Amino acid sequence: MSTFYPRRKFIRDISLGTLALAPGISTLAACAKNKQKKLGVALVGLGGYSTYQLAPALLQCKNCYLAGIVTGTPSKEKIWADKYNIPQKNIYNYQNFDSIADNKDIDIVYVVLPVAMHKEYTIRAAKAGKHVICEKPMAVSAADCQAMIDACKQANRMLSIGYRLHFEPFNMEMMRLGQKKVFGNIMKINSSNGFVWGGDPNAWRLKKALAGGGALMDMGVYVIQGARYTTGEEPLTVKAKEIKTKPDLFKEVDETVVWEMKFPGGSVAECRTSYNENANFLRAEAERGWFELSEAYRYGGMVGATTNGSMSFPNINQQAAQMDDFAQCVTQNKSTRVPGEMGLQDIKIVEAIYRSIASGKEESV
Ligand code: NAD
Repeated sequence: MSTFYPRRKFIRDISLGTLALAPGISTLAACAKNKQKKLGVALVGLGGYSTYQLAPALLQCKNCYLAGIVTGTPSKEKIWADKYNIPQKNIYNYQNFDSIADNKDIDIVYVVLPVAMHKEYTIRAAKAGKHVICEKPMAVSAADCQAMIDACKQANRMLSIGYRLHFEPFNMEMMRLGQKKVFGNIMKINSSNGFVWGGDPNAWRLKKALAGGGALMDMGVYVIQGARYTTGEEPLTVKAKEIKTKPDLFKEVDETVVWEMKFPGGSVAECRTSYNENANFLRAEAERGWFELSEAYRYGGMVGATTNGSMSFPNINQQAAQMDDFAQCVTQNKSTRVPGEMGLQDIKIVEAIYRSIASGKEESV
């Protein structure tokens, strides 16, 4: 390798195949013509999801790569720089983040922070001229979601939400079977998503100001999503109640929420989410049969079946598929299938569920 060819660029170009096998002039010209630049992604917040899912997934992406990081923890800088070959000029903290506007290596900012911080960092990223992926749940209120959408529109930047399951084959099959009415109209959806909290009692997820809510915000949005994408419809009303068995642990946020959603086509979704129960499924009962994922929302290991037998699809890297798709949307100026508006709608439903818990009545979305 020439000393004038930066190592990072060499690795990128090799991965794009432009230097492969010393090609002849005509092949080189064809390659140059077809060469699609990988977009640079900067991860904001280097916690669990960035560390164990997103950064490793970016190594597998074809359309984007990990170009930068934004962290409030200086000790993480060198570890990440060494591991992912990130140059010093692409490392930011929360104070100097806005100067990312001047960094041509960064095309997409991916916000992976506690929920209450999503709004600020999405808006700052858009103002810095970057396209944005924001993690779920989109924000702590529908008003914040709308402000994020408005800021991205104003800056003419794309905004998508980290809804990885829209790129996952088993969940995509649930969408197809439901939306195309392969088994007729859906009468009932049943779904639950939860785990037993064994983590830090002081974690941000248990603080209302940072998380916006508890199990419903964190795990329940998958259930809302599952019912929405399986029916292909928007719920009209919700009726909900909260169950709390560990008030000392869940002082500020909900532990278990049970709710029902009614859809315009007549189907009813019976939903549940919890920080104190293990569950992970999505089932639809339709006029001529049923279809379900008995492992529905995880990073892998999906299990699916229908009236006609088991589903068979590959397990893919969902995060890589999601980020590659967004990078392609940006490059080709196409709409994302998981836009900010989708995240906003989920938060409107979450707000209606919390209203119903408070009123004890059915509430309109
Ligand atoms: P985490 O607690 O592991 O990481 C949070 C990061 O935010 C840490 O690096 C922390 O240092 C930083 N941070 C900055 N300011 C903070 C503050 N005031 N308090 C606490 N932390 C602060 O969380 P995570 O699991 O990585 O979740 C981050 C986001 O990603 C959340 O929105 C979460 O819902 C989402 N997430 C999505 C998926 C998915 O499957 N799509 C999975 C896990 C997490």
